[in-house]
Amino acid sequence: MVRKYNFSAGPAALPEPVLIKAQQELMDWQHLGVSVMEVSHRSKEFIALAAGVDSKLRQLLDIPAEYEVLLLSGGARSQFAAIPLNLLGHHVTANYAVTGLWSKLAADEASRFTKVNIATNNYPDCCSIADSGNWQIDPEAAYTYYCDNETVHGVEFSSPPQVGSQLLVADMSSNLLSRPVDIRRHGLIHACAQKNLGISGVTVVIVRKDLLGTMPARAPSVLDYAAQAAKQSMLNTPVTFAWYILDLMLDWVADQGGVSALAEVNQLKANKLYDLIDQSALYQNKIDPVYRSRMNVVFHLADKSLEQAFLEQAASKNLVGLKGHRAVGGIRASIYNSMPEAGVDALVEFMREFEQQQ
Ligand SMILES: *Cc1c(COP(=O)(O)O)cnc(C)c1O
Repeated sequence: MVRKYNFSAGPAALPEPVLIKAQQELMDWQHLGVSVMEVSHRSKEFIALAAGVDSKLRQLLDIPAEYEVLLLSGGARSQFAAIPLNLLGHHVTANYAVTGLWSKLAADEASRFTKVNIATNNYPDCCSIADSGNWQIDPEAAYTYYCDNETVHGVEFSSPPQVGSQLLVADMSSNLLSRPVDIRRHGLIHACAQKNLGISGVTVVIVRKDLLGTMPARAPSVLDYAAQAAKQSMLNTPVTFAWYILDLMLDWVADQGGVSALAEVNQLKANKLYDLIDQSALYQNKIDPVYRSRMNVVFHLADKSLEQAFLEQAASKNLVGLKGHRAVGGIRASIYNSMPEAGVDALVEFMREFEQQQ
């Protein structure tokens, strides 16, 4: 068997120790003689797992007690609807910073429920992000929403935007746990798991408790943060296996030395790729260096007709998942926490060789 270096944007690579542990425990979890997928979410073993996920996330991300940690179903996209439904209250507008595909889709979804004020818009170019001091922010809006790392366009905020007294809401689906975050600057942070936190199915929502409880009566109760918080995110049957993998991932992150240690490695990995791209005549990345994503390195080949050969030859070296998103084309190397430095080194070496052949 060959384990390939998997640069897929999501569902993305998992650390080998996580996969091995899941394999070892698959037939018999916690000496119950059944797998974790086959036990009640009301069992004491599963309740303990859920409590562990909560406390491990709080510890790794330094989440203050005044925040609720919810584990919800329906992916990040269901949060695109849940966020305006939960946070609008008496307000009639929400601010959205459109810096790539995911924030654009979030703004589109929100416009089904509220008036959306586009505070800044770089779509579809998305090569940079306007300084937040120059955003057109409606001060009467319920919140200001941004996407911390645009997975498709490869654009990432280097620090949270400055939005005055506006409540800040962030999509961190593709970079939560990749670096320390100032939770207190935010009213809400959400992240689906299949990029940096595990497998698809579960979405982490970190939300300030005082914001809960204003959901309109005609909205679905499964999307109601207050209702979910009251039931420890078990208003309906949770995606138990995704919670289990999340738990293993959190242990793995702690084993790596935590979020700060991973942040250093992540920066190093990204630098290796951007340094190569910047020295190359073949590979091109047009993104403002300040906003280049540490998670999704998006680039094009100067000669587009070589891209297919690039992908095929990379695959023959066991470097897979490199095709860019259909919205932007080109190549995308997603290098989340789980991608070891050796994987990036192998990609850099391949890219050098490929350029020399041309
Ligand atoms: C993948 C992704 C999403 C969508 O997640 P789903 O779980 O498929 O709904 C949203 N935002 C960002 C930043 C993403 O990377």
